[in-house]
Amino acid sequence: MGEAFSVEEIFAKNVFTVGKMRHRLPKGVFKEVKKAMDEGKELSLETADVVAKAMKDWAVENGATHYTHWFQPLTGITAEKHDSFVAHPDEEGKTIMEFSGKELIKGEPDASSFPSGGLRSTFEARGYTAWDMTSPAFLKEAGTGVILCIPTAFCSYTGEALDKKTPLLRSMEAISEQALRIVRLFKNEGATKVVASVGPEQEYFLVDKEKYLKRPDLVFAGRTLFGAPAPKGQEMEDHYFGVIRERIGAYMKDLNKELWKLGVTAKTQHNEVAPAQHELAPIYETANIAVDHNQIVMETMKRVAIYHDMRCLLHEKPFAGVNGSGKHNNWSLGTDNGINLLDPGDTPNENIQFLLVLACIMKAVDTHADLLRQSASDVGNDHRLGANEAPPAIISMFLGEQLEDVVKQLVETGIAETCKEGGVLETGVSTLPNLTKDATDRNRTSPFAFTGNKFEFRMVGSADSVASPNTILNAIVAEAFCEAADVLEKAKDFDLAVHDLIKEYMTKHQRIIFNGNGYSDEWVEEAARRGLPNIKSMVEAVETLTTDKAVRLFEKFHIFTKSELESREEVLYETYAKTINIEALTMIDMASKQIIPAVVGYTRTLADTVIAVREAGVDASVQTEILKEVSLKLAEAKAALVKLQEVEKTAGTMQEGKEQAFFYKDAVRAAMDDLRRPVDELEMLVDKKVWPYPTYADLMFEV
Ligand code: ADP
Ligand code: MG
Repeated sequence: MGEAFSVEEIFAKNVFTVGKMRHRLPKGVFKEVKKAMDEGKELSLETADVVAKAMKDWAVENGATHYTHWFQPLTGITAEKHDSFVAHPDEEGKTIMEFSGKELIKGEPDASSFPSGGLRSTFEARGYTAWDMTSPAFLKEAGTGVILCIPTAFCSYTGEALDKKTPLLRSMEAISEQALRIVRLFKNEGATKVVASVGPEQEYFLVDKEKYLKRPDLVFAGRTLFGAPAPKGQEMEDHYFGVIRERIGAYMKDLNKELWKLGVTAKTQHNEVAPAQHELAPIYETANIAVDHNQIVMETMKRVAIYHDMRCLLHEKPFAGVNGSGKHNNWSLGTDNGINLLDPGDTPNENIQFLLVLACIMKAVDTHADLLRQSASDVGNDHRLGANEAPPAIISMFLGEQLEDVVKQLVETGIAETCKEGGVLETGVSTLPNLTKDATDRNRTSPFAFTGNKFEFRMVGSADSVASPNTILNAIVAEAFCEAADVLEKAKDFDLAVHDLIKEYMTKHQRIIFNGNGYSDEWVEEAARRGLPNIKSMVEAVETLTTDKAVRLFEKFHIFTKSELESREEVLYETYAKTINIEALTMIDMASKQIIPAVVGYTRTLADTVIAVREAGVDASVQTEILKEVSLKLAEAKAALVKLQEVEKTAGTMQEGKEQAFFYKDAVRAAMDDLRRPVDELEMLVDKKVWPYPTYADLMFEV
């Protein structure tokens, strides 16, 4: 058992919080910093010097030796290059710890090895990192010692975004500006900004380290590429919310402690549906900080697992046949004077504002369903979305009974006089209903569900950054708000105009509402009839980024330029090809060096047995039968291996880009499936003692 600790004492211990800044900075400097933070301004170099010194002093007092600009390149994970605070020694050979304002606000990592999709030619290898003052600096305690991490945005020499944070920050500005126009229409003069809030629920698997290390597929690909199902899967549903095993409990305790020290509000923990699967949910925060914190959560999950002789698998589908992992992205909008735009509210005025916001979100999600789908795609998530498992690849919205009914009435008659929960009509405009809170109605199969005062976007993959989904959500809703405000700001009769607009949007976009079972085949057909896109894979989703409609949206709100979008497309194709390439090579390696030799050895044993049994004058038909069966599957596996080697070779000769990515998706993945099938069958036939790898049962049930 680890030591007891006080949560209040350790919470945010390793964060350079606003409170610590206030304490450590001269009053005037603190004021300037706070203003710059709130208004997104830059600091003067003199001020930055003072902040840097205070930050360094705090970090060094807490054992830090190095600092790093912590950034989020398009790899989906974070990057860091450590610089120590050590200064040039004096004549006596003494050194001091130094950190300047310039080093705080700007970095120049040699960035030539990060994916840029052609935005940064190799002769201009410099990339710039710039301090994101809205996300606090923190201390990371790792094997390398204590490192001061400064969250930064990462751009090219010419100012193009090379990371996930920059567009997110831009999208937050856009949604704030446009949402303010909406709340102003409803006489909220006190709000000065609208903040997108995010709470991402993180799913993960834990496996034993020794077993993990025996599986090259887990080591290289983060998922099993072979593996016959265990006799027991998740059918008993006894793991979900089940008692947490001691070893896992000890892990969760340490994980929470590390996260709390970093100011991450780890809140809920429980076992998930699949054996060895768990979940952690934080309390929601400003989108930007939530994204940073989710990266910290993923990193910390992996790091703490090492100390517990386990490995944390964040892959979307580590095991075939049981649930994979996702990340429910809870998203909402709130003004800085305390109004949640997605809360139906208590007054008629708030109700109408809510219905307008809802109508705008319906419009946004319907218009840009393809972009939302894209934002949740990564290589691993292809195994979940639209495959045998939830959620479907089709974007639809779940509203719950009350709201669905209101939308229906508004669309059909223009009047929604009653509401299901029996609320009385009290609205200023006599044709809009008074809503009651209705958070109980849940539909676990919907990819985008209204849950009381927020939407829950359930498509996101467990290993992916949540930056893209939230960038897209902010962008598409900003556009709908902007278009609504353009109309309403000019209206002569506001009450009438808002009513008409809500009706118009809801009528036009009602096809996006679906409250039924999202996993059913009927829904796939129904969605096709409604004309909703059904984008089946990551590579098919890539091009949604540069349609005319997408470019118009992103350029209008200065979130991406066209060339930034094109570069992202290239990076996505490249990432896909590289990932599948690693998976295919790992399979080839495992099959040719371990699986096939093991099975060959086993056939030899069987053959010896057959001969020995016959010599003893006994019938050897069972042994012969097994030998035949194994030999047949072995031949099948060998042929599939040769085929995979061939397509893999062809893929390697192709030029990087769309065509190659599609080839990996269609030809290479099919060949991988064809190899996996006979190998998994062999695993069921062959003596466990000769099988070279821990089985699914070993991995999932003996953690
Ligand atoms: P469930 O699994 O039932 O969806 P959880 O408690 O696991 O519920 O997760 C709900 C998540 O939604 C939490 O991370 C929570 O902080 C977040 N959340 C709640 N309110 C908001 C909000 N206004 N904006 C964004 N996220 C929110
Ligand atoms: Mg949830």
